[in-house]
Amino acid sequence: MRVVAIDGPAGAGKSTIARALARRLEIPYLDTGAMYRAVTHAALRDGVEPGDAEAVTHLATTAHIHVGYDTVTVDGVDVTHEIRSDRINQAVSRVAAISGVRMVLREQQRAWVSKHGGGVVEGRDIGTVVFPDATLKVFLTASAQVRARRRVAEYGGDVEAIARSISERDRLDSSRADSPLMTADGSITVDTSDLSIDEVVAKLHALVVEREATNG
Ligand code: C5P
Repeated sequence: MRVVAIDGPAGAGKSTIARALARRLEIPYLDTGAMYRAVTHAALRDGVEPGDAEAVTHLATTAHIHVGYDTVTVDGVDVTHEIRSDRINQAVSRVAAISGVRMVLREQQRAWVSKHGGGVVEGRDIGTVVFPDATLKVFLTASAQVRARRRVAEYGGDVEAIARSISERDRLDSSRADSPLMTADGSITVDTSDLSIDEVVAKLHALVVEREATNG
């Protein structure tokens, strides 16, 4: 089974690269960040405090979350745009620090990949925890300034405020006890600050082909 794990901090270009690589490899793509965002959406919708481990884990278990190629629904409602809002950005790392939530979503991610026979999976703990035996594990990064500028180009807003918001999210994601953001053993780190999307995709594609040739 061909699985490519792409991890890294906010704004490193994971979604864009992962989608393009999946298209090129002709395998499906899964955005696991959208799953954590969807659970956060359900919590805010129901007035549940994002740090309430028991209540949020219950929601993660019972809410019907569907992450498609370009739409996300929670209990049948399209939340594709809402899950990118500031409210969600500010709460999602607290939800993602809850072990119960991580356990539920991890199982859904593994089930999704088995059902699809592989995929390019993007997140924070994919190479370290969810798929440690992936065909290729990539840690995508970029300078803080470049990451903030990319977010502003995509969603608008003030560069300074966005830079503060993503660095706070990175701090929480890297320091949590359960599956923190870090480089996986055997992963390759790619700094995308000065590379075009096509250059990164070509590099990763070549690495997948090379790994498969080596591993038979
Ligand atoms: O990738 P994205 O920025 O949409 O992820 C949103 C948040 O979801 C991250 O800041 C992190 O808290 C959480 N996340 C995670 N593990 C993943 C994917 C995302 O903890 N595999």
